[in-house]
Amino acid sequence: MTKRVPFTINNSPARVTLIQTGTITIKRCHHSCCLPERAPMTARFAAILADRRWADPMPIWTFVIEHPEGIFIVDAGATPAFNDEASWERDPRAGRLLRSFLRIEVQEHETLPAQMDALGIPTEEVSALVLTHQHIDHTASVPAFKNADIWTTAAEDNAAAHTGSNPWRWRSAETRIRHIDAEGIEPTDPKSGLKATVNLVGDASLRAIHTPGHTPGSASVVLATDQAEIWFTGDTSFTADTMNPTADTAGIHTDMSAVRRLHNHFAGIGVLLPSHDWDNPSRLAGLAETVSGR
Ligand SMILES: [Zn+2]
Repeated sequence: MTKRVPFTINNSPARVTLIQTGTITIKRCHHSCCLPERAPMTARFAAILADRRWADPMPIWTFVIEHPEGIFIVDAGATPAFNDEASWERDPRAGRLLRSFLRIEVQEHETLPAQMDALGIPTEEVSALVLTHQHIDHTASVPAFKNADIWTTAAEDNAAAHTGSNPWRWRSAETRIRHIDAEGIEPTDPKSGLKATVNLVGDASLRAIHTPGHTPGSASVVLATDQAEIWFTGDTSFTADTMNPTADTAGIHTDMSAVRRLHNHFAGIGVLLPSHDWDNPSRLAGLAETVSGR
């Protein structure tokens, strides 16, 4: 599924395209926390592994931003390699473990590069790709973007190295990694949970921000259009509806209190595009009506 929405930035035409790279299905205790939020991470992970009930499938979104200053991407989505035994040759145990609590359904024609090709958006012209985090449903197509800076955080690199989040699947010596937390500017209001920020364009209408919580190095992206601020919030909350300090949240955020601070900050702000929300296209369509009705 794709959804393309035109809007303007400083009166120049721009566009956001939502591209769904298949679905992910997780256990119910992963989708919504089964234990008190103060429970340690190891207990929450054990609850997920023990849970035999699957939640409903969720979309895996990626986002292409055609900005007056270039083409930018948020997240690289999933590929069929997740289900390909040979791709786990270097780490078969990690493959078995992940597939015991995650199901990813994606066809080759549904990958981000394949769908960009079908839409006529050249992958080689992408100048930067921001990873909201390094989980397997957000990184798989990174190698297709040969000319792009790949923005993540040093905090995420450290966490991925520690937990074995399989960076080898998307990363090589040629990958041009840049770190938001090393290059960014620290905020004046640290209470929001927003940390170091990098301007991706000259007029600061597109920014990548270190927003730890779901993982230690999670990041968000904000696009300031003439119509609204659009926030790409990764897995801080799976849906915009649950971007709410009192709603059920996922069972495996690494820092629950940081996630709750972010929920508080994001609730009611601009247009939210979390990475796994079926309602993203309809929320963006509302923005399109604002543009065409001007
Ligand atoms: Zn995810």
